[in-house]
Amino acid sequence: MAYDNENIFAKILRGEIPCTKVYEDDHNLAFEDINPQAPIHVLVIPKAAYVSMDDFTSSASDAEIAGFFRAVGNVARQLELASPGYRILANIGDDGMQEVDHLHVHIFGGKKLGPMLKRDA
Ligand code: 5GP
Repeated sequence: MAYDNENIFAKILRGEIPCTKVYEDDHNLAFEDINPQAPIHVLVIPKAAYVSMDDFTSSASDAEIAGFFRAVGNVARQLELASPGYRILANIGDDGMQEVDHLHVHIFGGKKLGPMLKRDA
């Protein structure tokens, strides 16, 4: 899938729509999810144009990949989640139900998060 420059996170990166920023470094940005699914729900994105974790891990440099995951850990520590614990999640593609086609890792925390996946009845 080609990267679409009009996706909502590209617009956030260009400053065209606002976000509540919680972390930024030269290559990565983290901001609060607009529709939080836990008391703390933050999205971490690389500033470079990658559609998904699949795109990122096949095309990005080792330094970009290392820097991104370092940023995820930095954000979690900044949010004081390391000790109580937290969850990270990345949705990829149709089965993963990815809605925004710019790579993002969700950080969830602030309560006991329950089962990893919704169980089918
Ligand atoms: P996905 O399902 O692609 O993994 O998650 C996309 C996430 O982006 C959702 O949790 C959704 O609430 C969040 N989101 C969608 N649009 C916006 C927006 O304009 N601003 C922010 N901060 N989050 C958004």
